[in-house]
Amino acid sequence: MKVLMNDQITKRNDIIIDIEDRGYQFGDGVYEVIRVYNGNAFYLQEHITRLIRSASELKMTLPYNEERLLTLLNQLVAENQLIEGNIYLQVSRGVAPRSHQFPEHSEAVLIAYTYKAARPLSLLQNGVSTILTEDIRWLRCDIKSLNLLGAVLAKQEAVDAGCHEAILHRNGTVTEGSSTNVAIIKEGTLYTHPADNLILHGITRQIILECANDLCIPVREETFTVEQLFAADEVFISSTTMEIAPVTSIDQKTIGSGTPGPLTHRLQQAFEEKIKTLKHP
Ligand code: PLP
Repeated sequence: MKVLMNDQITKRNDIIIDIEDRGYQFGDGVYEVIRVYNGNAFYLQEHITRLIRSASELKMTLPYNEERLLTLLNQLVAENQLIEGNIYLQVSRGVAPRSHQFPEHSEAVLIAYTYKAARPLSLLQNGVSTILTEDIRWLRCDIKSLNLLGAVLAKQEAVDAGCHEAILHRNGTVTEGSSTNVAIIKEGTLYTHPADNLILHGITRQIILECANDLCIPVREETFTVEQLFAADEVFISSTTMEIAPVTSIDQKTIGSGTPGPLTHRLQQAFEEKIKTLKHP
């Protein structure tokens, strides 16, 4: 497997990560996960735009420009002959003697690699079970930062309960999942938390809003409560790797009919159409 380190594509074993890398010591960096379908990086431009925004919110500069990054990532996918899988990309603030404040001199360290992964087809078809838990993360969840402990603890709670995802709430308002966005359908309208500082502005969430618009499904980017979540006709989670996954239960309570709902299914079909248009490069 080849890895992109700064602007060099090289073998994994040739990579050296410094013990004083701030990504490693402080989680001081940003990342992206990008899906590859049929050899194409899906919505690559949107992921890179979000990466640049996350970096800029942390006052970090990427090692080179956007165009070069797009070229190198496409090259990495081609060199690894990846057909179905993901790209993981992270950028840390760089290497410096350990001290919390920004170092005077440090250069961002960029790493990207790819791995094979099949689509979660049976989960997409049958739905997932979830739990509800408190959102204990910081107040800048719009930054896709390497600090993921709030998400890690929530996901582990879900796994310990035999579930796939943890849906998070702040004082009774549903925010998102530990690694997904959450939407509900009530009486034909789709509700999802507004894209503010309390959620990650998911690329899949954005694609879903486009699909809903195409399908004339009314959308309200509004907060909804835990009560509304349990009373929803349909609930689904979305992410680059989970796509649009119907939620069939939360804390062992059945959602809607307990099977994937009709509007979720229509959105899944519209999403599928977008994937199908991708030709092998
Ligand atoms: N929300 C959180 C907290 C996430 O970590 C992720 C993805 O990892 C998402 C939402 C979904 O974002 P995207 O659709 O861009 O993958």
